[in-house]
Amino acid sequence: LVRVENVDKYFGSLHVLKDINLTVSRGEVVVIIGPSGGGKSTLCRAINRLETIDSGTITFDGKPLPAEGKALARLRSDVGMVFQSFNLFSHKTILENVTLGPVKVRGMSRAEADKKGMELLERVGIASQAGKYPAQLSGGQQQRTAIARALAMGPKMILFDEPTSALDPEMVQEVLDVMIGLAREGMTMVVVTHEMGFARRAANRVVFMSEGQIVEENTPEEFFTNARTDRAKDFLSKIL
Ligand code: ATP
Ligand code: MG
Repeated sequence: LVRVENVDKYFGSLHVLKDINLTVSRGEVVVIIGPSGGGKSTLCRAINRLETIDSGTITFDGKPLPAEGKALARLRSDVGMVFQSFNLFSHKTILENVTLGPVKVRGMSRAEADKKGMELLERVGIASQAGKYPAQLSGGQQQRTAIARALAMGPKMILFDEPTSALDPEMVQEVLDVMIGLAREGMTMVVVTHEMGFARRAANRVVFMSEGQIVEENTPEEFFTNARTDRAKDFLSKIL
């Protein structure tokens, strides 16, 4: 579904992605882990073109990423994104946050969007909160709203960038449970996370990034028990 080939990216003189090669197949769950500043977020953002790249190619569904216009809007709805900071519209209700995209971008009728929105809120376990505003919800509930909002666009894949890092510990699992459910249903997912329990349970592959490079790529079992490189071993010794 996604093919990243020989991609380089600079911020000024800072080389943040160095010859990155990565493919993500349909239905696959790829977890990206690694130290801060390693380029994980930049790589995710490049996949839905929130960042441009300086060389190499990224294809989605076999086609190079569009630069602008309708095709770019299409890409953004095909590739959902869930961020650490939930990025909800604070002056809109939970249901409105979920229905805004389908109505504005996909041209869905209000009635249909509301119906589908309520189904999605049900699915992430917060249908009873539909009429509230984001500030009235817990962090875990807000992040589940953000996931429902991404799903409302009917994405072919979802990128998660540290979706549980801003949450109080007791709310992490409820969000991970929603993500594990999506993975089981076959959603294609790229997940930047340090939640190793999630990686072990849901990932098909773990990609370890450090200093702009993909240093190791392996199954979770192999990676966690048998990391090959010193950089990965060192990182794991700090987080496990
Ligand atoms: P973290 O685990 O802290 O989220 P990360 O692996 O996601 O880190 P990135 O956010 O991709 O890392 O950042 C990679 C490098 O690029 C860092 O050195 C960062 O400071 C730099 N960087 C990121 N965004 C920008 C930007 N818009 N302008 C300049 N430098 C940036
Ligand atoms: Mg990041």
